[in-house]
Amino acid sequence: MCYPQNEGGTGFKRVEDICRVFAAKRWWRMRTGDNLWSQLMMAKYCQRGHVVARKVQGNHSFIWKELLRIKAESEPHILWKINEAQISFWWDNWTGIGPLALYHHTDNNPGNLNVADIIDGDKWDMEYINNLLPPDICHIIQRVEIGSRNKKDQPIWTHNSSGEFTCASAYQSLRKKIPEIPIWKCIWKNGIPFKMAFIIWRAIKKKLPMYDRIKKYARSADPMCICCDHPEEETICHVLINGDMASKGWNYFGNYMGVSMQNQNIQARILN
Ligand SMILES: [Zn+2]
Repeated sequence: MCYPQNEGGTGFKRVEDICRVFAAKRWWRMRTGDNLWSQLMMAKYCQRGHVVARKVQGNHSFIWKELLRIKAESEPHILWKINEAQISFWWDNWTGIGPLALYHHTDNNPGNLNVADIIDGDKWDMEYINNLLPPDICHIIQRVEIGSRNKKDQPIWTHNSSGEFTCASAYQSLRKKIPEIPIWKCIWKNGIPFKMAFIIWRAIKKKLPMYDRIKKYARSADPMCICCDHPEEETICHVLINGDMASKGWNYFGNYMGVSMQNQNIQARILN
């Protein structure tokens, strides 16, 4: 139910997804904003290490644990454009491949290093970089552009073409997706009232309270339909396709609209 309409849902959003979006927004603000709250969190939790390297510990506050939980999903989508180069060489994602600390080829602690420390004049200090990282990573660094050194480094939210964080783009990146199916576009159209579209959606998803659906819960329910002169078992297919009343409706309106009566499946008949 909680998927976009073209993916077979009804357009409602999962509360869990909304919470994750706002957690991602807090992470973005803490990582990129120059605000008092961000300074407080850095001072409280990140004095001994970079924020990206921090791990959850039992005595941490709820809000900090929530931030670290969303880190894995949000941090890879924050790309830094190098200007004054005051961001962390090892932990900030400025090459597009995540923290370079993951590629460090010795067991030693990578230590504190700013990107400015590996720039010589207006070029990369490749001799220094070659001592720190494997050759394929060095090639990637060589291709990174160095911007204007008197401007601040610029964070870019990679899910939005403008580079700005928006809740809508975060929602699209964080939510679970399922492939689009053509039938849903036929149902959710301008001009079709919501309640009609919703009842067709329920019929296709077999979510209407017919006997074949409710018999598991209501054993005393009457199994027979009330739409025919000679009642049959009440199923979605019977009530909406084959029953006397449904057949009259389909024959009357379907003939005008050129709907084939061959299809006995509600999904196929609507698509037809
Ligand atoms: Zn019937």
